[in-house]
Amino acid sequence: MNIQNSERLFERAKNSIPGGVNSPVRAFKSVGGNPIFLKRAEGAYLYDADGNRYIDYINSWGPMILGHAYGPVVEAIQKKAVDSTSFGAPTELEVEMAELVKSMVPNVDLVRMVSSGTEACMSALRLARGYTGRNKFIKFEGCYHGHADPFLVKAGSGVATFNIQTVPGVTGGVSNDTLTCAYNDIEAVKRLVTENKGEIAAIITEPVAGNMGCILPAEGFYTELRRICTEEGIVLIFDEVMTGFRLAPGGAQERLGVDADLVTYGKVIGAGMPVGAFGGRLEIMQQIAPLGAVYQAGTLSGNPLAMIAGYTLLQELRSNPGIYTELEQKTEYLKAGLQRVLEASRTPFVINQLGSMISVHFSDHPVTDFASAASANNALFNKFFHAMLDRGVYLPPSAFETWFLSNALTQADLDATISAAEESLKEIL
Ligand code: PMP
Repeated sequence: MNIQNSERLFERAKNSIPGGVNSPVRAFKSVGGNPIFLKRAEGAYLYDADGNRYIDYINSWGPMILGHAYGPVVEAIQKKAVDSTSFGAPTELEVEMAELVKSMVPNVDLVRMVSSGTEACMSALRLARGYTGRNKFIKFEGCYHGHADPFLVKAGSGVATFNIQTVPGVTGGVSNDTLTCAYNDIEAVKRLVTENKGEIAAIITEPVAGNMGCILPAEGFYTELRRICTEEGIVLIFDEVMTGFRLAPGGAQERLGVDADLVTYGKVIGAGMPVGAFGGRLEIMQQIAPLGAVYQAGTLSGNPLAMIAGYTLLQELRSNPGIYTELEQKTEYLKAGLQRVLEASRTPFVINQLGSMISVHFSDHPVTDFASAASANNALFNKFFHAMLDRGVYLPPSAFETWFLSNALTQADLDATISAAEESLKEIL
């Protein structure tokens, strides 16, 4: 595959952008080789700077549920742009957006827009601390909640991909209040809660984890977590930056049947525009300024272009819930095909999947938490990634990321992906 233009752009980018990229995982550093520079995307396909086409399983890390450059979203942005790109003042569209979110998502009485998933999680944690008057919180190893200081402890995604143990610049004063334990380990949660009785403000979780590959919650895990949080006055935060509007119109809360106290959103809620949001129960949300003293703000929050993009996508998802069935059927078809070729290759593997989130770990043991994800044969995944890329299939460039499907994928795309996997396995094993 000719990627000369990408290589030239990468060399040029390194002179003016740290590592040549604006977000670390994009650099392909852990899988090796040079990143592909993209020019445009349409439906299920990405086109790079050399004109190569790829079937996309990243989908901007989640938001492109209906595929790239989705007609109604593009048209809505174009129409809105002529009315100005930002006001920094309230608009009717923001009210409509908040009402739409409330109509789709359980347990959201009030919702505040921000500009990224990082901001959403950072603000939700501050709010939980302000509301409870407590400092500590629990996060699970391998979960990623953005790059705000308190979350950069045993984090997943790029932090795991680059094997960064301690992030320089995050002070002990901050990270000492971050308590961690293994995902799915309810006994460890109970221990932490007992040892820190009355001191824990929040437990934050990716309801279905996507930042250590795709990892599913164990049976009963969230029922217990919910019970503990209610009993101990701990705020349960569902980080739905990946799962929100993807696993169901009401996100993981709806799909898993668990009630969170606060939820956070990102990327999906803006259809790929820079948007995030946090929301939840009235009693907690009314502590946010200007109602309460927990300060949180943003010049670009509720930005009209971001709002119209998100509003248009969410409307489509709400008015056509059949999309979720189709997406799940496509993902299950892919899973069955991958299973077939992986079994034939005789290499140990685990496929975790729920809804349109799926990932392959080259592992001979179940992958249920960060330790089991990290002890898979991730060097083999890296080879698999490149073999698939060479065959025009764009997977996330790390075993510590989930794959996302879009409903733009056709049967032919899925078959091509399965064939590419079969050939790739023959090449790399
Ligand atoms: N939470 C989760 C679960 C995420 O996956 C991400 C980003 N991948 C974030 C938070 C942070 O979002 P952003 O990159 O928009 O800041």
